[in-house]
Amino acid sequence: KLAPLEVPNRLLLGPGPSNAHPTVLQAMNTTPLGHLDPAFLALMDEIQSLLRYVWQTENPHTIAVSGTGTAAMEATLANTVEPGDVVLIGVAGYFGNRLVDMAGRYGADVRTISKPWGQVFSLDEISTALETHKPAILALVHAETSTGARQPLAEVGELCRKYGTLLLVDTVTSLGGVPIFLDEWGVDLAYSCSQKGLGCSPGASPFTMSTRAMEKLQKRETKVANWYLDMLLLGKYWGSERIYHHTAPINLYYGLREALRLVAAEGLANCWQRHQKNVEYLWESLESIGLKMHVEKEYRLPTLTTVCIPEGVDGKVVARQLLLEHNIEVGGGLGELAGKVWRVGLMGFNSRPESVDRLIEALKQVLGK
Ligand code: PLP
Repeated sequence: KLAPLEVPNRLLLGPGPSNAHPTVLQAMNTTPLGHLDPAFLALMDEIQSLLRYVWQTENPHTIAVSGTGTAAMEATLANTVEPGDVVLIGVAGYFGNRLVDMAGRYGADVRTISKPWGQVFSLDEISTALETHKPAILALVHAETSTGARQPLAEVGELCRKYGTLLLVDTVTSLGGVPIFLDEWGVDLAYSCSQKGLGCSPGASPFTMSTRAMEKLQKRETKVANWYLDMLLLGKYWGSERIYHHTAPINLYYGLREALRLVAAEGLANCWQRHQKNVEYLWESLESIGLKMHVEKEYRLPTLTTVCIPEGVDGKVVARQLLLEHNIEVGGGLGELAGKVWRVGLMGFNSRPESVDRLIEALKQVLGK
């Protein structure tokens, strides 16, 4: 006989998920409503307007995709890439490469610009690449979770306008924790997740598209090659028509609504400041025990820090000890950075000084400092 489920009580300081806020968990612990119940439809409307707030956009088509961040990522490309479209992708980490693989599957003529992992693209480099490739879409990762680097985005949208290029941005590890101004920056397509800066469980992923992106979708000659993520169909469920599309993961939407409500109650600017303040405390504390960061300070993310594993230390063994002996999760390196860094997240509800203190105490013991 199986015993009832018991989940270890971990402090999740990895690349995500982060611990869900207690009131988010409470919100999810409620019986589901029907997905066309007026009370649920009202909650969907609230989610839409809260998402516009956290992203700082007026885009009418702003919804949550039922699926994780990768599903929302897929939605941006599935809806806007037509076979043969030139799609230019900035690759400076693992998730840039995921975009390359995905765009190719929708028939894009994929071009890339690359940087060593941990660096970001300058405006000049982006400008030259746009001039060379004149792409239909430029895709950039705002917060590259594999490296901990923050790609500056101000003025990129303006450059894109010159070439009629749509700007697509991955905000999976930035939404809720890093300043984002989608409309001011001229971003046309963005996606995110629920389980990091927003402090909810994974599975209901923010998606938004500008009117320009919507026009490209409406004009396309071929059907969107993905029924589930077709925004013309989904728009009829999230918009005023309320036509059944799929059964929404109701309880996750309760959680997302509560997570977004918490951000709004704190105030978006305060939330960003809290993430910045706590990550600076993390960096100082890590330096005080002799550890170094992988990314230059100017480009470090407030949500995710890559910490160099010291010479002679087995990073995997340390991460395992932190998990099993101290109930703290940190991430290992991905791709090029495998074995070279730990990835430490301070996201959403976990961005607190106590998280830093607990991690440093545990690291001191494990590393014998
Ligand atoms: N993009 C980035 C930058 C990510 O960090 C992640 C996940 O960590 C994803 C996309 C994919 O999101 P998910 O794992 O929720 O599908």
